[in-house]
Amino acid sequence: MAGFSHEPKRIERIGNSALKISWMDGHESIYLWEKLRRVCPCAVCRESGSAPPMEGVKPLELQPVGRYALTIRWSDGHATGIFSHEYLRSLCGCEACQPIQLDEG
Ligand SMILES: [Zn+2]
Ligand SMILES: [Zn+2]
Repeated sequence: MAGFSHEPKRIERIGNSALKISWMDGHESIYLWEKLRRVCPCAVCRESGSAPPMEGVKPLELQPVGRYALTIRWSDGHATGIFSHEYLRSLCGCEACQPIQLDEG
């Protein structure tokens, strides 16, 4: 999409339950930590197939990777996932970002 911004302007925690990213284009995305842990893009998580129990998992540390991504160190000891800004933006669950499911039965 032309003009689509993957640059975060501001990244902040919302208490212990979610991460909020304000994007350069003014859009705001909110991600529950448990959801982020579940969609971790690293090879270990992708290959394991079945997700380990992630209820109550909390982020211990957020670390920027260059200017394009973010790593999260989790309370379950996991820290190898690199969440690129582009990936994060694609995960936004708001109505504007999620494609509308047309019922074309
Ligand atoms: Zn992972
Ligand atoms: Zn959105």
